[in-house]
Amino acid sequence: NAFLDAIERLDGQINSFITRTPEQARQAARQADEAIAKGQAKALTGIPLGIKDLFATKGVRTTAASRILGDFTPPYESTVTQNLLDDGAVFLGKLNLDEFAMGSTNLTSAFGGVENPWKRHGSDAKLVPGGSSGGSAAAVAAGLCLGATGTDTGGSIRQPAAYCGITGIKPTYGRCSRFGQIAFASSLDQAGPMARTLQDCAILLESMAGFDPKDATSVNQPVPRYEAALGRSIKGMKIGIPREYRVPGMPADIDKLWQEAASWLKAAGAEVVDISLPHTKHALPTYYIAALAEASSNLARYDGVRYGMRAERPSLDEMYEATRAEGFGEEVKRRILLGTHVLSSGYYDAYYLRAQKVRTLIQRDFLRAFEEVDVILTPTAPSGAFAWDEKPTDPVQMYLNDVFTVPASLAGVPALSLPGGLDSQGVPLGLQLIGRFFGEEDIIAAGHVVE
Ligand code: GLN
Repeated sequence: NAFLDAIERLDGQINSFITRTPEQARQAARQADEAIAKGQAKALTGIPLGIKDLFATKGVRTTAASRILGDFTPPYESTVTQNLLDDGAVFLGKLNLDEFAMGSTNLTSAFGGVENPWKRHGSDAKLVPGGSSGGSAAAVAAGLCLGATGTDTGGSIRQPAAYCGITGIKPTYGRCSRFGQIAFASSLDQAGPMARTLQDCAILLESMAGFDPKDATSVNQPVPRYEAALGRSIKGMKIGIPREYRVPGMPADIDKLWQEAASWLKAAGAEVVDISLPHTKHALPTYYIAALAEASSNLARYDGVRYGMRAERPSLDEMYEATRAEGFGEEVKRRILLGTHVLSSGYYDAYYLRAQKVRTLIQRDFLRAFEEVDVILTPTAPSGAFAWDEKPTDPVQMYLNDVFTVPASLAGVPALSLPGGLDSQGVPLGLQLIGRFFGEEDIIAAGHVVE
């Protein structure tokens, strides 16, 4: 009731929920009470969570923050949310995001932007929560839920976590099932937890993760007790600082925080070394070719025939055109067009195929680095949260914000973001720890020292 009241009181302004489910939440909470009374409590019994509106939830509207799915109610449950329900979690509703998870501000949602609960010193300007999991990050930061699910294709868990001063983990690709998670770029999409502390994230991840025969890319490997990695000694652990992440124009506050974090890890007994990830500069163009190509193919299914919105027209072709013209927002259309272009014959070799090859080189950079170090430390983003009206009008300028998060996504390795402190304007800044394949426990152990 306290969380439902907080949502009632604060979310008119924050706008982090697209759909609220107070009745279902109260009923689940009563069941949790009974389970506790019977001594049958599980890991998440009675824990109130918000669910990013990219996860299919049976009988509860699931929109992907798009008009095209505006009144779509799935007849089935995603594996990740089913895993959380099986562990006793209580869902409060569905959280806002950038449309189809495409963006870094949560301003591309068809259900309105999300307001970051943080403010700059002495300013009333509305700040973005980051994206695409902006509703998840803002809801957790404002205390509207204890934790939330996020999804990360190129930074969508880590960057909003950083902007809202919370913690988020993008697990190794294949760790969480993608079944029932609305697809953006299938070779990159990965679900993960967002919460106030690393401990909460570790508990949530343990519940969300696991093999699922319904997702061919989910990995059949036992799920460790992530929580046990908290407090584990990092004496002798090797931490790499990639020199290519020292980008020109990075704010001094972020550079300072990065150096401080390295010294905290050193003080805890880790060895900090300089490393090189030589193909880093190609990560952004590679991501914005590979991800958009996959998106254009994945979004072909929204045709007004099978499900979702339909704009009635006299002929089939006109119906397709009108449905997609009215149903998709501007950023989604831009990406479908770019993705279709790089896949078209005549451009396929020059763009798509080339991007696949460069992706392999980027992955090899990480494999080579992890022969030498256990964990890589970087800032999460090249800026803190900016004001709604400071969002770059040039889309390419906006894409540059993802510079530190896309490389780990392309490589498929796990990465987390932790709150590092505040910048001179009082806005949170995030630190990123990247681990080797299935090295979640290493980044959790190192993260706990920084936390
Ligand atoms: N900001 C990136 C993009 O716009 C990442 C989004 C994501 O991870 N879903 O594509």
